[in-house]
Amino acid sequence: MARHKSQKIYSTKSTDENAQALIFQMESGADVIIHEEDFSKKPKAKLADKTSATQAVKETAPQVDAKSKPKSSSVWADKAREAAMACETLEDLKQAIADFDGLEVKNTATNMVFCDGNVKSRVMVIGEAPGADEDEQGKPFVGRSGRLLDLVLLSAGLSRKEDDPKKSLYISNVLNWRPPGNRTPTPQEMTIARPFIEKHIALQKPDIILCAGAVAIQTLIEGAPTLSKARNKWHNYKPQTSGIELDKKIELYALYHPAYLMRSPLQKKKAWHDMIKVMEKIEKS
Ligand code: URA
Repeated sequence: MARHKSQKIYSTKSTDENAQALIFQMESGADVIIHEEDFSKKPKAKLADKTSATQAVKETAPQVDAKSKPKSSSVWADKAREAAMACETLEDLKQAIADFDGLEVKNTATNMVFCDGNVKSRVMVIGEAPGADEDEQGKPFVGRSGRLLDLVLLSAGLSRKEDDPKKSLYISNVLNWRPPGNRTPTPQEMTIARPFIEKHIALQKPDIILCAGAVAIQTLIEGAPTLSKARNKWHNYKPQTSGIELDKKIELYALYHPAYLMRSPLQKKKAWHDMIKVMEKIEKS
C-alpha cells in the first residue's frame, strides 16, 4: 500500500496479537487510553472459532440492567440545561461543567478547558474544542492554531492580555474537554454542550461573539448553517436553550477556524476582510 511520506509507520517483529492491535490503533490516530485493563487475563477468542468468540464477548461485556441503561443525548441535554440554568456566576458554571457526567469526552481528557482572556471584554471568541496543547495546559487556543488566531485578532487590535475591555477578548470553546485524537465534536455532543456555552455567553455578556469555525457556528446559530452561508454578515444572536435570556443585543460573526487557515493560507485574505468588519463594528458600538 502506498503511504504518504510524512505518515508514520510503526512496525514490530512480534506476532503477539496485542502488539499488532496497538500498532493498528497508533496508525489510526488513537492516542488516548480509555480503559486500562489487563487484556491478557481476558478469555481469548480464536477468530476462526465463531462460537467461542461470541461466548468470550458475552463473558467480557459489562452487564447492563434496565435501570442503568445509557441515557439518550436529549436526556443529557435536558440535564445540561438544568445544571446551566442553576448557575449565577461564571465560577458556578465552571463547577457545573466539571461535575456534569453527560459528555464522555470528560473521561478521556486531562484537564477541563474553560476560558482565557479578559472577563470584562466586549468580544467573546468561541472555538470548537480543546486540542492536545489546550488539554495539557487547561487553556483554550494555546497551540499552533491558537497562535495564528491571536495574530488574526491582533490585526483588529484585540488581545487576550489587554485590560481595556474595548481592546481585549475573552475566549472559550463549545466543548470544554478534548475529544480523543482531536476528532470533531459530534452533533450529539454539540446539542448536549449548547446550554453550557449559551449560559457562558449570558453570564459573560459580550457585545460581539466571534465564532471560530463550523462547530461554533452550527451550535450557536439557529438552523445550523454551513460556515460559507453564515460568513460575511452579522447575525443577531438568540440563545436556543429555553430559559436562557439575554439582557442586551449581542451580534455574532462567523470566522474561519485558524486550523483551516493554516491548511488554506490563501483564505487569509478573507480572514483580514473579516477583521476589518469586526473593527468597524467595534468602532460603531
Ligand atoms: N481549536 C479549537 O477550536 N479550540 C481550541 O481551544 C484549540 C484548538
